[in-house]
Amino acid sequence: MSVLVYAEATEGKFRKQAHEAVTYGRKVADMLGVLTHVLCMDEVSEDELKSLGKFGAQSVWFVKENRPANFDPSAIAGVIARAEAQTNSDVLVLVQNFDGKAVAPVLAAKLRAGLVSGAVALPVIEGNSFLVKKNVFSGKAIAVYEMHSAKKIIALTPNSIAPESYSNTPEIHELKPQFNESDFKLKVKEVVKASGTVSLTDADIVVSGGRGLKGPENWAMLEEMAAILGAATACSRPVADINWRPHHEHVGQTGLTVRPNLYIAIGISGAIQHLAGVNGSKVMVVINKDPEAPFFKAADYGIVGDAFEVVPKLNEALKKFKSGAAV
Ligand SMILES: Cc1cc2nc3c(=O)[nH]c(=O)nc-3n(C[C@H](O)[C@H](O)[C@H](O)COP(=O)(O)OP(=O)(O)OC[C@H]3O[C@@H](n4cnc5c(N)ncnc54)[C@H](O)[C@@H]3O)c2cc1C
Repeated sequence: MSVLVYAEATEGKFRKQAHEAVTYGRKVADMLGVLTHVLCMDEVSEDELKSLGKFGAQSVWFVKENRPANFDPSAIAGVIARAEAQTNSDVLVLVQNFDGKAVAPVLAAKLRAGLVSGAVALPVIEGNSFLVKKNVFSGKAIAVYEMHSAKKIIALTPNSIAPESYSNTPEIHELKPQFNESDFKLKVKEVVKASGTVSLTDADIVVSGGRGLKGPENWAMLEEMAAILGAATACSRPVADINWRPHHEHVGQTGLTVRPNLYIAIGISGAIQHLAGVNGSKVMVVINKDPEAPFFKAADYGIVGDAFEVVPKLNEALKKFKSGAAV
């Protein structure tokens, strides 16, 4: 028995989500007293594969033929299933991101495994059963799922666990799955990369704007704040729907779920559908001119005021603070 983690890389590098998943897998493996294997299907260097040892990987498997990783859920699930057989793994860990959401159910059906998607904490292990926490009802409540299937799949919500430091050098192995053309049911013809320097789902700080900003031309002050704080930018759904901001920035029930350490909401009312995607944030700060805006009930800190007055002043204060000057 062992634990297998599926780790994705972007542009040849493993990001925070992959590091979190590897640490999660290692902690589960330590609880069970078994090994942690990691599978990667992207094109990365051997050094990068080895770097996963710093997050707990004891053995890393790579696939030279990286066509499946080009987002074909059934092909990805097929390769993970082969790695699962090769490594004799009973617990599989994925990230609850775009790929993970599509792959985990296909994999669960293939392996006849129990699946918890969107886990937010390490499992409590009682004999053969895992008790796994996940957010439910748009993040309004937490449910504990009991998994007692022989094979268990956990899709981990990003930012639920901090990557930890380990000091082992993992063994590197090549996995050689045999593919048939029929394994590839989807073909990705074009990939349009999200703009922005900080990845929204990996960001520690997110600066987000809503319809209260009146128009796309007013986003410069949010982008300035994001640049000062090293934050990613996000928006409410109507803002993306009316093309003030790109759709990949839309957070909420029908958009991305983010769990940053700090979420700054500017000119956003705080509708339940918006909160569903952000209320896992550790600290929420709201700037809204309406003291009755629902977001204030969910916020840790609130500023009642006009964003066009508050944000420029806040940016100046943040710049001074960052430069070490008295604010
Ligand atoms: C099925 C369904 C799914 C949905 N999914 C999502 C989703 O995933 N994400 C999402 O965001 N929404 C979603 N919505 C829409 C959601 O219900 C809200 O309509 C939306 O979140 C409102 O966006 P907003 O807060 O930007 O705009 P508004 O509701 O128009 O609020 C604007 C806010 O800005 C404030 N404001 C105005 N001027 C200023 C100023 N100068 N300074 C400071 N504050 C100011 C106002 O007081 C107000 O609170 C969904 C709705 C449905 C029905």
